[in-house]
Amino acid sequence: MRLTFTCQSCGSKHVTRDAWAEWSEERQKWVLNAVFDYAFCHSCAKPTQLVEDSIAEP
Ligand SMILES: [Zn+2]
Repeated sequence: MRLTFTCQSCGSKHVTRDAWAEWSEERQKWVLNAVFDYAFCHSCAKPTQLVEDSIAEP
């Protein structure tokens, strides 16, 4: 089952979470280290709560 996250206020999928990225010398890129609860909707341009939903396989 696949998931999607949308803004609780407007339903937009243009949402992000606060996170830390850690430099990986092996992979030569920033890799996700931790994801925090703070969520932001770029359509509302303000903090939001995320709604988790399941979506059909493509
Ligand atoms: Zn929104």
